[in-house]
Amino acid sequence: MAAAIIIESLAAYWWINSGRAITGPSWLMPPLFFLPIYIGIAWFSISMHRLKRRVRAADGCLCPNCLYDLAACPDVDKCPECAFAGGPNEARESWRAAGLVKR
Ligand SMILES: [Zn+2]
Repeated sequence: MAAAIIIESLAAYWWINSGRAITGPSWLMPPLFFLPIYIGIAWFSISMHRLKRRVRAADGCLCPNCLYDLAACPDVDKCPECAFAGGPNEARESWRAAGLVKR
């Protein structure tokens, strides 16, 4: 999202300073001008949808920091991948607090 806004700003800055005339159908310009922002919003939505699906498939048993699957090691009190404090139950609680896991 932030990258899309930066790219959009740079493109607008370049276009304004290039001295080029805007040609083509005028109704097409606003959608084209904001296209990078639309792409950023779509990318963010798809990423969130994939994260939700992944967390729900693992029943919330993923490390909230690095998404390591904690189901394989139920007795740990911190993530073996990134040393984030909390075992599977704490991970499930934090996903529940974020609204990604029900119950
Ligand atoms: Zn981790």
